[in-house]
Amino acid sequence: MINNDGFSEPVYVTEPLLPDLAETYSMLEIIWQSRQLSNNGKMAQELERKLAAFLGTRYLSVFANGTNALQIACKTLDLSGEVITTPFTFAATANALAWNHLTPVFCDIEEATFNIDADRIESLITNKTTAILPVHVFGHPCEVEKIDRIAARHNLKVLYDGAHAFGVKIKDKPIGAYGDITMFSFHATKIFHTVEGGALIFRDQDLQQKAKCLRNFGLKEDYSVDEPGINGKLNELQAAVGILLLKEVEAEITQRKYLTNLYRQVLVDVPGITVSQEAEEITANYPYFVIRVDPAAYGISRDELYSRLLSFNIFCRKYFYPLCSNFKCFKGLPSSSADNLPTANKVAESVLALPLHGRMSASDVQKIGGIIREIKIKSKSTKFSIELGV
Ligand SMILES: *Cc1c(COP(=O)(O)O)cnc(C)c1O
Repeated sequence: MINNDGFSEPVYVTEPLLPDLAETYSMLEIIWQSRQLSNNGKMAQELERKLAAFLGTRYLSVFANGTNALQIACKTLDLSGEVITTPFTFAATANALAWNHLTPVFCDIEEATFNIDADRIESLITNKTTAILPVHVFGHPCEVEKIDRIAARHNLKVLYDGAHAFGVKIKDKPIGAYGDITMFSFHATKIFHTVEGGALIFRDQDLQQKAKCLRNFGLKEDYSVDEPGINGKLNELQAAVGILLLKEVEAEITQRKYLTNLYRQVLVDVPGITVSQEAEEITANYPYFVIRVDPAAYGISRDELYSRLLSFNIFCRKYFYPLCSNFKCFKGLPSSSADNLPTANKVAESVLALPLHGRMSASDVQKIGGIIREIKIKSKSTKFSIELGV
């Protein structure tokens, strides 16, 4: 049996990718010389050009953060009434709807992918529904073609929360090519980041023009306002970080892929632990490594495993628990009832995101995997001794 004492330093679920300091300093010099710190400056424009090329789109704009981008996207699409979305996501998804006075209608998820169950969407459509807001959970693409067909049939808009899906492709087609708008988050905990930041990819130039105006208070060329906008600008320092990190992101994804496959090898035969498998025809980006814990087979619950790992200095996250539908602000909604969301409730009780980022080594992953295996063995023996009355 491996003897694991845990880590001397805390291992967190993620650690930000950092640009080279000397290169950052050179970028700061350029900004200082330009004396422009914000307002769609040279850095922001360069970042937009580079991101559009990297993500394979013509219509991309950057925003102050992903939540702000989602809020602006709802206004850009003129949404009203009800929007069908998933409860198995980060708080920002449902919050962005509420901030636009839209009612989230929660749809259950698929057990295999954790994504919105496209086959259940149509039963939730009412005469108040104006859009679908699916999330590409942990970077795994939703059933985009099915969702786009449903939207076309019912004349609904589709806004994808692609916060986790930076660089993902379906059969070589970029993830941002589906729906009306796709949002990406560039928060420091995401694969590619600008400290805080986000982007929208638009179906066409008209949507982009409208969102760019809303991003800048709704100001028109003559400085008058037709539609109240907000301040959603990404500043020049953030953009500079993005320009530098865009050079690093492919190496980051490669290292995460390597570590993900190692985790799979180490954990695949641990009873009660389910690991994700590589999806077919998808260019994946490995933002999180999420396992499911079956307490009956593993011996202890997800919550107990989470606490035990803390004692080894391993800081996991229960992504996504609790569900948005169980937040105080949303749990009174008709669609939040547990009867409507059996799979989401079950999945939320069992998921655990293990540490994964490009600064980790193979031995870190082997050690964490070994500890999870060993906890299983020990919990089995305790269970035995309880059964034997020892
Ligand atoms: C991170 C995240 C967001 C919010 O992005 P911010 O840039 O932090 O505002 C939205 N949705 C999901 C699914 C996220 O993980």
